[in-house]
Amino acid sequence: MDSVILKWDATQHSKNAAGHCACGTKGIYYRRWEGKYYCASCFARQVETRFRKTVSANKLVRKGERVAVALSGGKDSAALLYLLNELRKHMPFTLVAVSADEGITGYRDASLEKAEELTKMLGVEHHTASFAEAFAVTTDDIEKKHCTYCGVFRRYLLNKKAHELGADKLAVGHNLDDEAQSILMNFFRGDIARFHRLGAKPASGGDGFVPRIKPLRDIPEKETALYALVRNLPFSGSECPHSFDNLRRDVQAMVNGLEAKYPGTKMQIVSFYDRLKPSLTAARKEAIAHCAQCGEPSSGGVCKACELLGKVRSAKFL
Ligand code: SF4
Repeated sequence: MDSVILKWDATQHSKNAAGHCACGTKGIYYRRWEGKYYCASCFARQVETRFRKTVSANKLVRKGERVAVALSGGKDSAALLYLLNELRKHMPFTLVAVSADEGITGYRDASLEKAEELTKMLGVEHHTASFAEAFAVTTDDIEKKHCTYCGVFRRYLLNKKAHELGADKLAVGHNLDDEAQSILMNFFRGDIARFHRLGAKPASGGDGFVPRIKPLRDIPEKETALYALVRNLPFSGSECPHSFDNLRRDVQAMVNGLEAKYPGTKMQIVSFYDRLKPSLTAARKEAIAHCAQCGEPSSGGVCKACELLGKVRSAKFL
C-alpha cells in the first residue's frame, strides 16, 4: 500500500519526502492551498471530517432514509459508498448501490467487477441496470456525441432504478473538480435551468424524481483518489474510450491549469456558486411534469432521454 501511495504522490508532489504531518509522521500528501503535509491516517481522518460536514451542513441524509449510491466502480463512487457505509455507524439509514451498464466494451465490464467486489466487501446490496435492456441500444452503438447521449440515458436509468428500489435519495460521486467544471460548463452554455440545479442537493425533487445528493462535492478529485488508495478500496482506474472530445474535458484542462497557478481556484468557483444560488432560487420555480412518451418525470412534454433515444434509433446514428 505504502509504495502505491508514495508512487502516486511522487508524481503529484515531489516535495513530499521532505515534509512531515502536524502529528510528526512523514507526510504522504502535500495540500498546496493550505501549505500543509499530511500522513495517511491524518489525511483520511480529515477527508472523513469534511465529508461529514458537507452531509450535515446540507442535511443530505436523514435518519431512517434509504439512500441509493450511484456506483460506477471508479475512485469517487467507491470512496462515496465507503464513507456513507461508515456514516451508518453513527446514524441509522439503509444503503443500496446502483450501477449503470452503458455497454462500453473493455471499460464498463472492468469497473462493474470492481463495483461488485466493493459491495461484497462492505455487505451492501447491489443492482445493475443496463442500457441494452432499457433502451435496446448501448453507448458503443452511438456514432458521435457519446457523452451527451450516455450522460442523459445514465441519469434517466439511475433515477428510474433508485425510484423502483424505494430510495429517498440518490447519492452521486461528484467531487469538487466535477462541481467546479459543471458550474463553468453551464455558464458557458448559458443553461440557467441546469445551472440552478447544481449544488450539494437539488432545489427541488418532484414526483418520480429521486433527489440527487453530492456528499463529495467539497473534496478535490485527487483527494478522493488518494482516500480510496489509503482505505484499500477496490476501484477501476481505466478511462472511458469515448471521453476524449467533449466540453467537460476542455473545461477540466482549463480549471486544472488555473488551479496549478492559483491554488484554491476550484474551491473559489464552488463557493461563489453557493453564495449566488439563494438569489437564483428566489427567482426560479420549476414545475415538474411527466414525459408524454415514457411517463418518467420531466420538466417538458417529452423527456430528454426519449428525445435522444428517438435520434439514436434513427438510421443517422445506428
Ligand atoms: Fe458515458 Fe462519456 Fe462518461 Fe464515457 S465519458 S461513460 S461516454 S458520459
